[in-house]
Amino acid sequence: MGRVLIIGAGGVATVAAHKVAQNSDVFTDIMIASRTKSKCDAIVKAIGKPGIRTAQVDADNVPELVALFKDFRPDLVMNLALPYQDLTIMDACLEYGCSYLDTANYEPKDEAHFEYSWQWAYRERFEKAGLTAILGCGFDPGVTSIFTAYAAKHHFKEIQYLDIVDCNAGDHHKAFATNFNPEINIREITQKGLYWEDGKWVETEPLEIHKDLTYPGIGPRDSYLLHHEEIESLVINYPTIRRARFWMTFGQQYLKHLEVIQNIGMSRIDEIEYDAPLADGSGVAKVKIVPLQFLKAVLPNPQDLGANYEGETSIGCRIRGIGQDGKEHTYYIYNNCSHQAAYEETGMQGVSYTTGVPACIGARMFMLGLWKKPGVFNVEEFDPDPFMDELNKQGLPWHELHDVDLEL
Ligand code: NDP
Repeated sequence: MGRVLIIGAGGVATVAAHKVAQNSDVFTDIMIASRTKSKCDAIVKAIGKPGIRTAQVDADNVPELVALFKDFRPDLVMNLALPYQDLTIMDACLEYGCSYLDTANYEPKDEAHFEYSWQWAYRERFEKAGLTAILGCGFDPGVTSIFTAYAAKHHFKEIQYLDIVDCNAGDHHKAFATNFNPEINIREITQKGLYWEDGKWVETEPLEIHKDLTYPGIGPRDSYLLHHEEIESLVINYPTIRRARFWMTFGQQYLKHLEVIQNIGMSRIDEIEYDAPLADGSGVAKVKIVPLQFLKAVLPNPQDLGANYEGETSIGCRIRGIGQDGKEHTYYIYNNCSHQAAYEETGMQGVSYTTGVPACIGARMFMLGLWKKPGVFNVEEFDPDPFMDELNKQGLPWHELHDVDLEL
């Protein structure tokens, strides 16, 4: 039982806030704080329950965060803002003395590069302070890592091959839109691919490797090998893994737009100078803009996609290895999530739903003391069983297939 502070008021935070409010048996007091307070107020209005507090905060500013924490006194801060804020929020948690949870690993603003080293460097400080940091508690990373932990605990002596497969077979009826923050999404997809094989990282050109994979209830979809953050911790925590890869589906329409965006320089993350007309018409002012941030401002807002979104997501893990009987086995564990059902429950589409629900469950695990130990942890380092039970209860039921053709 405890006090939770949600930072951010985007699609993921909206879903998490709805779910946290539904779990009032463990979350006694709730606050939503973000850069734009009116968005927090709108979430509270949509939830329609009294007593949820809101606040304005700049999560890049540690003293401002600490002042807010002193006022609200959270036991746990859920960072559902952007990966840029991970370190400032972790710093503030340490300074105030509360625990931390996020869904995406730290990324510096000026470099499209993500890895866990920056956050793993906080291990000793969280340990000494007796505080918990839960890293990557969305769907991928998050549930995919917990699926792997569950497979290792219940089905395999040795996981040897792991393929995480992420299909969005939904249709939002827009020519081009991203399903979560466009800046973060486009940075992720346009960087080089990376996978783990025989003890080392293998780099590919962006979207170089792809193949048709068949998703349950959906059918075959062209799936592209991407670098994804959970692979980094999973190959350390499961050293028997010989090869680990991550695949995501993209339609031709999406890829065509992405190619144009790149070719015309709109995916650039460096600053360019732009002549902005002065309001009085007397000339121009030189302003600096980042093309990708400008693009975000003109693209559809991922939070507005839900109303017309049809179809499902299907995300899971395809695993091959030595089973507990000493023989080779394959295993496929997955969840399918309907965009429409997500929208009806929370007003958000399936990608925000599949991220916000696990974040709430992770927070629930912490509040119940089931995932509470001093230090900084990736989610596969906790007991997967109580989390897996909650997935079934909180809207993301999972399914298992044994000894099937994994296609990989
Ligand atoms: P959005 O862009 O919709 O929301 C981000 C929110 O953070 C906005 O409300 C924004 O404020 C707020 N914010 C940004 N900067 C600051 C700041 N300096 N101080 C305070 N608030 C700030 O993103 P999503 O909801 O789509 O994604 C949220 C997170 O979830 C991201 O980190 C994303 O990478 C992660 N994610 C993880 C997935 C997973 O499966 N693990 C999948 C999808 C997303 P404002 O409203 O004013 O712009």
